[in-house]
Parts: sequence; C-alpha cells; structure tokens
Amino acid sequence: MKPTLVLVGRPNVGKSTLFNRLTRSRDALVADIPGLTRDRHYGHGKLGLKPYFVVDTGGFEPVIKSGILHAMAQQTLQAVDEADVVLFVVDGRQGLASQDKIIADQLRKTGQRIILVVNKAEGMHASPMMAEFHELGLGAPHSVSALHGEHLGELVDFALEDY
Ligand code: GDP
Ligand code: MG
Repeated sequence: MKPTLVLVGRPNVGKSTLFNRLTRSRDALVADIPGLTRDRHYGHGKLGLKPYFVVDTGGFEPVIKSGILHAMAQQTLQAVDEADVVLFVVDGRQGLASQDKIIADQLRKTGQRIILVVNKAEGMHASPMMAEFHELGLGAPHSVSALHGEHLGELVDFALEDY
C-alpha cells in the first residue's frame, strides 16, 4: 500500500502548485485568487525514491473562517486523520500568519506526523523568518519552491523515510 501525503494550509500558500508538482500533472487549476482553486484533490506520483498518494485539501474549504473551531473543515480533518504524513504548507514570502498558528495547533492535536513546508522559498536564504516558523513547534521547516520545483524530491524522500 502506497503511503498517503496530505497537503494542508491556508489558502494561497501554494498547495495546488505543490500537488501538481508531486503528481506531475497540469490539470489542476491554479488561481491567484484565494479560495478559487477548483482542482483535483487526489493523485499519485513518484518524485523521489518511493511512490505515494497525495491529497490536496485546499478545495474542501473556500474560506477558512477565523476561530479555532473553524480553522479546518471537517473534510480536511478527516483527510488528516487518514494521512500517513501531513505536509503543512506555509508561505515563506508572507511569513508566519495567525491562521498558520491556529492550523498548527489543530494539527498537533491529531498526533499525526507533520512536516512543515515553507513554500515560495526560491532565492531565499536562512532568515529570521525561518526562526519564526520554528516557533510553530513542528520541527525544522523544509524550504521548497513548488513553482520552480526546488527541493521537492528531498522533501518527499524525507517525508517517506519510514515507508
Ligand atoms: P493554494 O490556494 O494553497 O492551492 O495555492 P496555489 O497553488 O493556488 O498558489 C497560489 C499562488 O501562489 C499562485 O499564484 C502560485 O503561482 C503561487 N505560488 C505557488 N507556489 C509558489 C512558489 O514556490 N513560489 C512563488 N513565488 N509563488 C508560488
Ligand atoms: Mg488550491
């Protein structure tokens, strides 16, 4: 059975772009407008050494409402429960957002293996921003660029090292 990677994060951080890269497909629509991504949610791929399933939870929730109870839609929480590894995607250009902290708290409670993915990190060097992401308490952040395809094979191999 192939392990399942589940992509979680607030709108516009690059989940669908990452999904496309991980599944090497172009048939997901990437929109610039938060919440307007209408795309496939399930795919499979093999970017590094091992094959996997991948789930993009973004399309499940057009808008993430504020407040802890509504930080993640039920469908997203269910996908997280069914994940082997959760890739929690944040935006390395915008920096840490309050929604990121709320989502991080909910993810931590699930007891799942969470990997913090700092996307949009092309051309970025170690910066105070990375220290900020460390504060989420989810371990070392992994910098990638979904758009430019940077460090994605390494990310997947790290995520799947136990499989
Ligand atoms: P989602 O809402 O989390 O699914 O985010 P999308 O994948 O729809 O991406 C939102 C916006 O971020 C789009 O304009 C993407 O082109 C852009 N984006 C995604 N990944 C990267 C990246 O690695 N670097 C940069 N600079 N932009 C990115
Ligand atoms: Mg999306």
